[in-house]
Amino acid sequence: MAKIGINIATGSLQKEEMIVGIDLGTTNSLVAIIHPDSNQPVALREHNGTSLVPSIVHFGENNSITVGEDARKLLIRDPANTIYSTKRLMGKSYNDIRDNASFYAFKVHDDNTESLVKVQVGPQFYTPVELSSFILKELRSRAEHILKTPVTKAVITVPAYFNDSQRQATRDAGRLAGLDVLRIINEPTAASLAYGIGLNKEEEKAIAVYDLGGGTFDISILKIHNGIFEVLSTHGDTYLGGDDFDQLIVKKWVKEHKIGEERLQNDKELMQTLRLKAETAKVHLSSKDVFIDHIGDIQLQVTVSEFNKLIQPYITKTLGACEIALKDAGLKKQDINEVVMVGGSTRTPLIKSLVSDFFGLSLHDTLNPDEVVALGAAVQANILAGNNKEMLLLDITPLSLGVETMGGLMDVLIPRNTKIPTRVSRNYTSQKDGQSGIVISVFQGERDLVKDNRKLASFILEGIPAMPAGLPKVEISFLINADGILLVNAKEIRSGTEQSIEVKPQYGLTDSEVEKMLMDSIINAKDDIKTRALTEAKTEAAQLIDTTLNFIEKNKEYLTPSEVDQTNEAINALRNLISQGTKDELQFQIEKLNEISRPYAERLMDIAIRKAIGGKNISDNY
Ligand code: ADP
Ligand code: MG
Repeated sequence: MAKIGINIATGSLQKEEMIVGIDLGTTNSLVAIIHPDSNQPVALREHNGTSLVPSIVHFGENNSITVGEDARKLLIRDPANTIYSTKRLMGKSYNDIRDNASFYAFKVHDDNTESLVKVQVGPQFYTPVELSSFILKELRSRAEHILKTPVTKAVITVPAYFNDSQRQATRDAGRLAGLDVLRIINEPTAASLAYGIGLNKEEEKAIAVYDLGGGTFDISILKIHNGIFEVLSTHGDTYLGGDDFDQLIVKKWVKEHKIGEERLQNDKELMQTLRLKAETAKVHLSSKDVFIDHIGDIQLQVTVSEFNKLIQPYITKTLGACEIALKDAGLKKQDINEVVMVGGSTRTPLIKSLVSDFFGLSLHDTLNPDEVVALGAAVQANILAGNNKEMLLLDITPLSLGVETMGGLMDVLIPRNTKIPTRVSRNYTSQKDGQSGIVISVFQGERDLVKDNRKLASFILEGIPAMPAGLPKVEISFLINADGILLVNAKEIRSGTEQSIEVKPQYGLTDSEVEKMLMDSIINAKDDIKTRALTEAKTEAAQLIDTTLNFIEKNKEYLTPSEVDQTNEAINALRNLISQGTKDELQFQIEKLNEISRPYAERLMDIAIRKAIGGKNISDNY
């Protein structure tokens, strides 16, 4: 299916590689391409016609990994080993998701810190990046199977509200799956592109993209101008989607048949079947008036008007979010020119009609709403492949630009292929108490360790007043102007100390050197990500040892000698692992040390509180 070209110089045949578009969804994921014959975007389908791959990973015996529909079937029966909604965890710390921890039936590792979350399956720890990479690997191998050609290049979509680190995490997941991620694009932008909105340079429009998926709702207001999409505002609800509608139907049936809570808890099989039947009913009601079925002697029935009544409050809530998004964008309903419907749940007729009434416009809803984002990603991929010559190819950065962080890691501020001019800033802090200067080293390249990239410049931000480690707030900003000149600025926010430097990033690099650096990064991607994860675990271990030692030193009087011994033992074990341990061994020992020291910290907290209220027990105050 891929195009074959002839190299004029050598006469050899060259297979032109296809760039695929990937929608890495919370509930479902899929791959699309531009069909070489029709030139239209199409979703890749299995023999049975399905394009959607449930974004679910199951870990079985002997380290076997299953992704997709087969994993979905195990959700209820093997909850501890079946991981869903990985996308919600991307780039998040445990503190970020604490309030929703009960949403997950598997073990999200509570390390009580700001470091990135991990999921624990048996003795293994997985980062959301690794989990997403399993989904992407599955998508990639399905695509290769269908296309009968290697697939190594992709455009991947993310929600418009994803921040830098969530985007970087998505990129890393792609690389871990053996994909060169040419660009990360916003889901609402992709959906608009799929409908051809924005392909004409003269167009100037305001677009509302209403996306109701399985578990999340997003409304994005975009502006298209000179062929460039700009996100004016986003709003939504990260815990509202089609899954809630299934639950409403389950509840209705459970109530009608007076099925007790206890029976449901004990009969997982029944719970699972009810949920699947409810989803079938919901899908059925998108085109029929009534659903009738049964499980054994339990009669199941629901009509369209009953269903509509159940979901009405939820839809009203989404329209409230639309109001807010419009307000944030500084627009009125009448200013919107196009409304694009995205997400499987927008197949429900009531939702279509209420959204259409709300904006007073007819909707873009002719493409499959659960495929439209991937289709748009394929359109973008085609533009990048240079197959759509009329489409603008703005000036872009050929290689990623970033700074060196702890452990010699490359922290990318401006990913390669970013349109210029552009500006990005991010906050950093110091590692040591009383550090008065911070070295800022700027690198260019795609590798995870700065030593493998190209150093562009380095300077010291001096004159930071003495503060404990972690307290200074250093904002580093990268600005690339229209001439491709990079301006790096570093500023310590609390004291106002500031320093800048000017760099010419492309200077001295030929096209072939750029190409070589890219090739190296692709070849080394897997090793790099492993090294990055190991380095991060080592840094975390070293910091934990530091804080624990500090803690013991300051609070010896409140600990028994055997407690001090036990802690020191765990510290030594962790210290030994820093030189030769694996990532999993390190994380295991980090957790062990945390478990030992956490009760001490709590005890001290109690003592401190008691002291603060004058030696009284807290209960004395009541
Ligand atoms: P996500 O973007 O969250 O990965 P999708 O866009 O694939 O998810 O949407 C999945 C949701 O769409 C599920 O809740 C599914 O039940 C629902 N859905 C799929 N088809 C229909 C339909 N015909 N009518 C109503 N809901 C549907
Ligand atoms: Mg989606």
